[in-house]
Amino acid sequence: MKKILVTGGAGFIGGNFVHYMVNKYPEYKIVNLDLLTYAGNLETLKNVEDKENYKFVKGDISDREFVFKLFEEEKFDIVINFAAESHVDRSVTDPGIFVQTNVLGTQVLLDASKEFKVKRYHQVSTDEVYGDLPIDRNDLFFTEETPLNPSSPYSASKTSADLLVQAYHRTYGLPTTISRCSNNYGPYHFPEKLIPLMISRALNDESLPVYGNGENVRDWLHVYDHCTAIDLIIHNGKVGDVYNVGGHNERTNLEVVKTILKSLDKPESLITYVKDRPGHDLRYAIDPTKLENELGWKPKYNFDIGIKETIQWYLDNKKWWQNIISGEYQKYYKNQYDNK
Ligand code: NAD
Repeated sequence: MKKILVTGGAGFIGGNFVHYMVNKYPEYKIVNLDLLTYAGNLETLKNVEDKENYKFVKGDISDREFVFKLFEEEKFDIVINFAAESHVDRSVTDPGIFVQTNVLGTQVLLDASKEFKVKRYHQVSTDEVYGDLPIDRNDLFFTEETPLNPSSPYSASKTSADLLVQAYHRTYGLPTTISRCSNNYGPYHFPEKLIPLMISRALNDESLPVYGNGENVRDWLHVYDHCTAIDLIIHNGKVGDVYNVGGHNERTNLEVVKTILKSLDKPESLITYVKDRPGHDLRYAIDPTKLENELGWKPKYNFDIGIKETIQWYLDNKKWWQNIISGEYQKYYKNQYDNK
């Protein structure tokens, strides 16, 4: 029996990971600690909330007293930190909360992991810590050795957290691992992010805002493949190491938007070009060779299949994203938990 703390498990990737772990490892106990910010949505966890090996705790990873009390009570074997402020645009307008949650929150979790001697601390990081690559150099990829060179307040906060994780390993011997993954897509993705935003707006025949000329390249990975990578890393990854996660699915933003429009049989005239994001990274492309060779990871999805399934999921689960757009989802916690 292993007791695993998943932070940020009411968000997009954390939520998918909780589903994955609760179902795959009935013998483990999964504790989900989430503050339920605007991005946290307990409706995402409806299908697991009554499972015996799952528990939800509401709280802030940067609240030291609360986190230490939780660690003392629960005696976690493994800590996996997904909790973060994750939206780059929001970090451009309000960087402070990104430092608070992503940097200070990580430090509190590291301190608690050290104090209560967890067997593994895993940090869920991003390829954005490497900055970006030139648009016209398809031969260049991020490896684990690429220098850290973040562009946005979001990626700078994630980079700071990664450096703290590595310092806690080196200085205190904390058994850490870090995964740096490319852009994820899939079910339960908050509709402010590119793919769900475009799907939900196209379904409502609303204009689809594309930054700049739409030529920025992102490397897309289905969230399920991110979950299998983290599963492998926490069980078999080498302590102290970093693993890049990506499936070689580079697409320009415009290609992604056009694919969505085509699948939904909507006209390209819905596309509207808007003023570019300041400091907008040009191209991300991950080299996942280390994860493939050392741990035998292989992604299940290529983008063309994954995006079709994802679009179908949004068609089948309209209530989930419509509740977010209308703000209804914020009532779920109250109904589900405050009345118990
Ligand atoms: P998300 O915004 O969907 O979810 C974040 C979750 O963290 C939410 O449920 C939120 O309520 C919770 N949270 C925020 N502040 C908290 C705090 N102080 N205490 C406790 N919980 C808090 O994010 P996501 O897209 O699922 O990303 C999860 C992680 O993966 C992040 O660390 C992100 O940097 C990383 N990542 C994301 C991507 C991507 O494409 N989305 C790619 C690579 C890495």
